[in-house]
Amino acid sequence: MSASNTYDLIVAGGGAAGFFSAIRTAEKHPNWKILILEKSAKLLSKVLISGGGRCNVTHHCFDVEELCLRYPRGGDYLKPHFWAFGPEQTQDWFESKNVPLKTESDGRMFPTSDSSGSIANCLLKSAERANIKVQTREGLERIEQGNGTYTITTDKETYACRNLVLAFGGLPKLIQYDLLGNLNLDIVDPVPSLFTFNIEMHPLRDLSGVSVPDAEVQVVGLKRKDRGPLLITHWGLSGPAVLRSSAWLARELHDKDYRFQVAVNWTGQDKNAVIQSLKHFAEQHPKKQIVSHSPLEHISTRLWQSLAGTVIKESYRNWAESGKKTYAALADKLCSDVYQADGKTTFKEEFVTAGGISLDNLDENFQLKEWPGIYVAGELADIDGITGGFNFQAAWTAGDAIARVIR
Ligand SMILES: Cc1cc2nc3c(=O)[nH]c(=O)nc-3n(C[C@H](O)[C@H](O)[C@H](O)COP(=O)(O)OP(=O)(O)OC[C@H]3O[C@@H](n4cnc5c(N)ncnc54)[C@H](O)[C@@H]3O)c2cc1C
Repeated sequence: MSASNTYDLIVAGGGAAGFFSAIRTAEKHPNWKILILEKSAKLLSKVLISGGGRCNVTHHCFDVEELCLRYPRGGDYLKPHFWAFGPEQTQDWFESKNVPLKTESDGRMFPTSDSSGSIANCLLKSAERANIKVQTREGLERIEQGNGTYTITTDKETYACRNLVLAFGGLPKLIQYDLLGNLNLDIVDPVPSLFTFNIEMHPLRDLSGVSVPDAEVQVVGLKRKDRGPLLITHWGLSGPAVLRSSAWLARELHDKDYRFQVAVNWTGQDKNAVIQSLKHFAEQHPKKQIVSHSPLEHISTRLWQSLAGTVIKESYRNWAESGKKTYAALADKLCSDVYQADGKTTFKEEFVTAGGISLDNLDENFQLKEWPGIYVAGELADIDGITGGFNFQAAWTAGDAIARVIR
């Protein structure tokens, strides 16, 4: 092997995890020869489209225990590494490179420029300054073990390296894993995460765009309940509560072929509390027509009219003509409103893969137990977070962790 094709570290994948692993390693080992191989023509393509073009870099969740709960898969594994490099360190790192971050009211953190280009440029410049070689249109095809080194074959060249980071992302297709064949790894079947629920011909379609700030959704027959804002779309139900549910139940819903019933509590409150609110409103406004005005602060009049209209058939009826039975029927509709979901739609802002290289293959530092010197970073591992900047955080954290132990 020629010296020019021999590296201390080769990174397969020019995405967030690949770049950050390479840059953090170069920061610790400035004399190392490092190469990033990117199969496509474009570097950091997901960073650039992420967060609607703004890149939700991380989340203002600086409490590690709390942070781990945002990962349906891999939270425990990431925990010790979050102590070393969590959202706070991510913010510091980008700020040290003159890319300040800001926090939005829901905790999501973005570059103050509101442009994902700031993040991508920062990573590209940092790699350039560290003399990291970047090769596009060159995909990893084969890995073979030599004498203390690995031989890497791409569609163009053969390289040798002491260390290899696999960071070629998550794809809901097993084809990506073919090149890992000779490593004999356990792969957790990859399935999509972070999607919205399609409700065919759903009765709320006319309310597309209407949202509630604190709903609860539960897939009928499963224990899990997820809370948060809920949005009615042209196709069905979306918003953080639904995305959270899709992430935690990614595998169960895949097994159900995305056909299931979902119960919505539009109020996020207990049924008895809702009955009390309705009773109170009825006493205050006995002459108001039941269907025409929403009695609950966070339920818009349009949503109320649609929901209450399925319970109260006489639109002229007023609250004076209501009683226990009416309150109970309305509270039933508000707190356990069941819809039939049939399919999913990928959330336009973010989607990730649940599954990938099983964490059982890894030691505690992202290194393959059976293949010393080979590390796995980013979405390729069976690690994924809910929406809100947690997936990029997992990529930054893995990159830093690898750089701390790589020799
Ligand atoms: C539309 C969208 C928006 C998103 N927005 C956000 C957000 O705002 N915040 C957030 O936290 N997360 C977001 N995510 C998720 C986030 O983008 C991913 O979790 C993250 O990019 C994973 O980084 P990665 O480096 O592991 O993989 P990737 O970013 O997928 O990078 C992997 C790279 O490897 C390359 N590659 C593939 N095969 C090979 C090979 N054989 N050899 C060499 N290279 C190869 C690919 O071409 C790719 O460039 C979003 C995802 C999508 C799809």
